[in-house]
Amino acid sequence: MNRADENPTLQPRNPMMKQEQYLARKHLKELLTTLIEDGYQCIGPRVRDGAIVYAPLTSIDQLPWGVSDRQQPGGYKLSAPPASPAGLNAALQPVHPGQRAFDWSVPATSIKALLFAPSEPLWCARPDASGQLVFRQSLPEPERVALFGVRPCDLRAIAIQDRVFLAGPYADIRYQLRRSELFIIALNCTHSGDLCFCVGTGGSLNAERGYDLALTELDKGYLVRSGSKAGRSVLTRLNARPASSSQRKLAQAQQAEAYRQQQHRQPKLPSPAECLSLLNLPTHPEWAAVAERCLACANCTQACPTCFCHTVVNQSNLELSQSEHSRQWDSCFSDQHSYCAGQVVRATTEQRYRQWLSHKFASWQQQFGEFGCVGCGRCISCCPAGIDIIEVLNRLCHNKPELAKEAT
Ligand code: SF4
Ligand code: SF4
Repeated sequence: MNRADENPTLQPRNPMMKQEQYLARKHLKELLTTLIEDGYQCIGPRVRDGAIVYAPLTSIDQLPWGVSDRQQPGGYKLSAPPASPAGLNAALQPVHPGQRAFDWSVPATSIKALLFAPSEPLWCARPDASGQLVFRQSLPEPERVALFGVRPCDLRAIAIQDRVFLAGPYADIRYQLRRSELFIIALNCTHSGDLCFCVGTGGSLNAERGYDLALTELDKGYLVRSGSKAGRSVLTRLNARPASSSQRKLAQAQQAEAYRQQQHRQPKLPSPAECLSLLNLPTHPEWAAVAERCLACANCTQACPTCFCHTVVNQSNLELSQSEHSRQWDSCFSDQHSYCAGQVVRATTEQRYRQWLSHKFASWQQQFGEFGCVGCGRCISCCPAGIDIIEVLNRLCHNKPELAKEAT
């Protein structure tokens, strides 16, 4: 029995997994050109300003070949790709020899902004010739977008945002317009970053659902499986062939190693039941201790792929002839976020930090039956104070106030 047999998070829960194809690296560009031919704007991981971010992709040469990342509390660094041999005609070089395009954990930015815009107009009002106020709704232009390289944690984050914006009788029309035009190419994890803890939040290193195509990177090519009719249609046009059992075993061994890395690097996330106890700890001394370090900068909530808080603002033009009503990302760390009935309900950083963590790991369970965290680790690497939410959670859930008192 190998590690994958022992570990249910590595098992292919999606039956499509059994029909994997193999796409040699030299044919990867066909995937991009097929999507572009089908009218998609492709967006994928690229190196920008020293970080991997999602950006428009027109050539597979723009992918982060040979680049890997190093993430730690309050820190994010990329390794430099090896330089090309000077003077060698690029046409004579093999395609990205010995390099992988997806040898990093998660991009610094999530895909949240592509579906839920950081700022967008909702409607504007202006008087017509008779002085009557006319309201006009603003909607985004529908655009076919293919998202290249979505990690399983970010795929789960999309599913969470779908529930927030699409479930129930009042779907968000702007989110819906963007979501309906999305083609997703997921990217199974072949190693875990230092801050990854998706498995602890109920996730998997394999994309399970909600994708059109899923890739697993090997040294010389990719295992590809389809998860939708649209995905199958694209896959049949690629120069792919059925994956061999040795290729599948190699992929499984890589994922077993990624699973092992994640188990060994991260302190254990408290269980869902333990996290629910956060709601009974309003005066735990850890809230004040973490508030001493927290700058209330809101970086964590902006980077988080599942945070969805927003506010609305009204802006008039200088002539006061038009007023625009727009939606902007907000954060439970901002001073006006809890403004209600003439007062700010959560006035201190301690109260705001407690709101952020308790919502993610406790009241979210009551609302949605799961954590509001997919274990991507972004809130840890982008925190200027280097606050690690798992360490904070452990101190809160495993060191109850009465025990803390006994220890002092
Ligand atoms: S809370 Fe942190 S680790 Fe969890 S999904 Fe949000 S950014 Fe990622
Ligand atoms: S936890 Fe870190 S990133 Fe979040 S508001 Fe506080 S200082 Fe900023």
